[in-house]
Amino acid sequence: MPVDATLPYDDQNIFAKILRREIPNRTVYEDEWALAFHDINPQAPIHILVIPKGAYVSWDDFSAHGSEAEIAGFIRAVGHVAREQGLVAPGYRLLANAGINSHQEVPHLHVHLFGGKALGPMLVR
Ligand code: AMP
Repeated sequence: MPVDATLPYDDQNIFAKILRREIPNRTVYEDEWALAFHDINPQAPIHILVIPKGAYVSWDDFSAHGSEAEIAGFIRAVGHVAREQGLVAPGYRLLANAGINSHQEVPHLHVHLFGGKALGPMLVR
């Protein structure tokens, strides 16, 4: 079910629980600003989710209310993970769903990192 990303942050969302270590995840990277872990239902050979540690519902919320340090730290973490996964030379795709029309399902900002094969042209459907 897509979520209304204009609602206030819900600290019971599944990624908040992952950040609190209440449910397990397959972590690939963590620093002060971000956690990166394997998507539970991968859509490509490499499918990693990168989330900020702060409580932000969506890209809109984060870009409007995140501090300079949080935004810089998060963006750098996404780039770091892609490099660490060896994806710079072959290439990769980033995707952040935001709100109802995008079918965002988890109301904590996450960037999908896809790679590991030729992904073809972007499909909006
Ligand atoms: P979105 O539709 O952009 O909100 O994507 C949510 C993503 O979270 C989907 O790709 C799910 O497979 C993934 N997901 C949901 N629960 C978990 C979980 N517990 N661990 C890892 N990935 C998850």
